[in-house]
Amino acid sequence: MAGAPEERPQHHAAPQVFPERRAEGRSPQGFLSSFFSNNQKCQLMLLKTLQTNPYVKLLLDAMKHSGCAVDRERHFSCEDCNGNISGGFDASSSQIVLCQNNIGNQAHMNRLVTHELIHAFDHCRAHVNWFTNVRHLACSEIRAANLSGDCSLVNEIFRLNFGLKRHHQTCVRDRAILSILAVRDISREAAQKAVDGVFESCFNDLEPFGRIPYNKTSAKYAHRDFQNRDRYYSNL
Ligand SMILES: [Zn+2]
Repeated sequence: MAGAPEERPQHHAAPQVFPERRAEGRSPQGFLSSFFSNNQKCQLMLLKTLQTNPYVKLLLDAMKHSGCAVDRERHFSCEDCNGNISGGFDASSSQIVLCQNNIGNQAHMNRLVTHELIHAFDHCRAHVNWFTNVRHLACSEIRAANLSGDCSLVNEIFRLNFGLKRHHQTCVRDRAILSILAVRDISREAAQKAVDGVFESCFNDLEPFGRIPYNKTSAKYAHRDFQNRDRYYSNL
């Protein structure tokens, strides 16, 4: 699976990952023309994701419900990034960075936005110490890998051979560890320890989906249930 863009771990926009954000703002790299066409493509794919993807629609509703309404202009930024990073959640500015030079297709955009919105949701509902508490970061990475569909493409293939649940858990654990290592200068052992220490409770925290959405249909049902839950509570 190496090389498939959706297999890359997503990263947090820590200052060390996006140094140019702090240093130079959003300066385009390379030819201006490719920057603008990449930027346009990124904006269009983002718009489609926000309007049509059931995972994302549920998360946007949940954010609004938690008092953190998401605004496309304010909370998303299509930028060129170094290396092969796909994007990240920049907690200091509450912005989701989308690496327009590394997002290959709509499916990749869908998964990336879902993954980062789960971090944004965690940031909204709880006081997350992204930079000082590696267990907090580990918890959100477990949830993002578990609920975003990051592991479901692989599942499609392995479902024929292994028990689905077992493979899914292994995938979630591995991806959470990789995501931590991408943004923290710590050993693999330390990252594994952080993930294993919180795995049970964070893997079972399915908010706001209420289930593991293995595919779009499942995400649509989760969205419907979330809307009904909302209605029920507002009638109390
Ligand atoms: Zn992440």
